[in-house]
Amino acid sequence: MYSRPSLTAVISGEVSSVDQIHIFPSKFLRDAGVTVFPSYRVNEINFPNKIVHARSVGATGGNEQRHYGFNNIILATGSIPYVPKVGSDQLKGVFTIRKFREAKLLSEFSSEGLVAHVIGAGFVGLEVAEALAKRGIKVSLVVRSRILRLLVEEDLSERLTRRLEGHGVQARLGCCFEGVQGDRKVKAVIIDGQRHRSDMVVYATGVSPNVRLATETGIEVSTNGAITIDNRMQTSLKGVYTAGDCCETLDFVSECKTYRPIGSVAADEGKIAGVNAVEGAEESRGTIRQQYNKLFGTGVVSMGLSSEEAHSLGLKAKSFTMRVKSLQSEPFSLRKRENIMKMVVEQGSDRIIGWQSIGTREASFLSHYMFDCILNHRGISEVAESGLKFDLQVE
Ligand SMILES: Cc1cc2nc3c(=O)[nH]c(=O)nc-3n(C[C@H](O)[C@H](O)[C@H](O)COP(=O)(O)OP(=O)(O)OC[C@H]3O[C@@H](n4cnc5c(N)ncnc54)[C@H](O)[C@@H]3O)c2cc1C
Repeated sequence: MYSRPSLTAVISGEVSSVDQIHIFPSKFLRDAGVTVFPSYRVNEINFPNKIVHARSVGATGGNEQRHYGFNNIILATGSIPYVPKVGSDQLKGVFTIRKFREAKLLSEFSSEGLVAHVIGAGFVGLEVAEALAKRGIKVSLVVRSRILRLLVEEDLSERLTRRLEGHGVQARLGCCFEGVQGDRKVKAVIIDGQRHRSDMVVYATGVSPNVRLATETGIEVSTNGAITIDNRMQTSLKGVYTAGDCCETLDFVSECKTYRPIGSVAADEGKIAGVNAVEGAEESRGTIRQQYNKLFGTGVVSMGLSSEEAHSLGLKAKSFTMRVKSLQSEPFSLRKRENIMKMVVEQGSDRIIGWQSIGTREASFLSHYMFDCILNHRGISEVAESGLKFDLQVE
């Protein structure tokens, strides 16, 4: 069980073995009372009779079958990379990045002087672009709209774009990726009808929930394709719980169900599903998105809702640039460094529903405070009264 966020370090060459990125070594799980069957794939779950049918896979193979009984069960089958349907699957030089094996293949293929196109500019696309650039590869990032569109406000997006261009990555914003050309291996990509020479293409175009085991038995999925949940993380079938990238999530701020395949959400949901699957009674109040990253040498924090995400969930929101004048106890000087912070506020009330920052890591200490504001429905005036003095630049 390894850390997926560390996969980009495999591409940059900083990590070469899966052992370096293990998060839960077997002994840790054993000591915690968890029995792991690492090389077994579940191919069927007989829900009426409460039996899981699994088959051995992997290098040791064996095709050995096992059957396990259960009382309650949690479906945490994750997601599958979304790949644009442009008929490029069989070409050498086309990659997705979800598993260690895929990151390793991409790393082995990478060498100085190659030309790569990374499609998609969420956190994963940006991290992959940075890792490839570190390997001396000429990288173009192909983006339908703008960088981190749902995660940061437009001016932060522009700032990040300038930053990655400063690191030699070309950003092709507002572009439509139309396909890949090549005979057995990638030779070019087509963007807005134009052909561009390329040796490799990496799809960072998001993921789809992996719901096969659920849908085969009629467990309900929502319109976004993810397993539906109630506030105890139970599916439409009693005693069957779910968590993570395979299911929808309840957004704390808007109280709407949405699809949000990120690790922090998966972990929060996993805890609730786990308690309820052993007959506990834990209810979810919804999750608040929290993402921290270091991209091209700068810290990026995004939590709660951005104004674009708020609109997509039916909330009216506006954003403000936030400049901190002074802090009651100022452990770090936020003013001396190049930080830009944005506060997202619900229109009509002054409730803080999101916060973002780009700059030095010091800004992230404020993020704990801002998270608390979102969680406790605080308004701007309450923040001002707290001793955190700041300027708000209204846009
Ligand atoms: C490169 C990369 C970087 C990322 N960085 C971040 C980050 O910085 N922060 C963040 O919050 N999130 C990040 N994510 C997203 C995060 O990794 C996922 O949201 C998280 O792993 C979801 O956890 P999960 O348990 O739902 O799914 P997964 O981690 O995908 O686990 C699902 C597991 O189920 C297994 N499985 C599926 N079907 C079967 C079956 N039939 N039988 C047996 N086993 C099965 C799979 O093999 C897998 O082990 C990143 C993802 C990637 C790819």
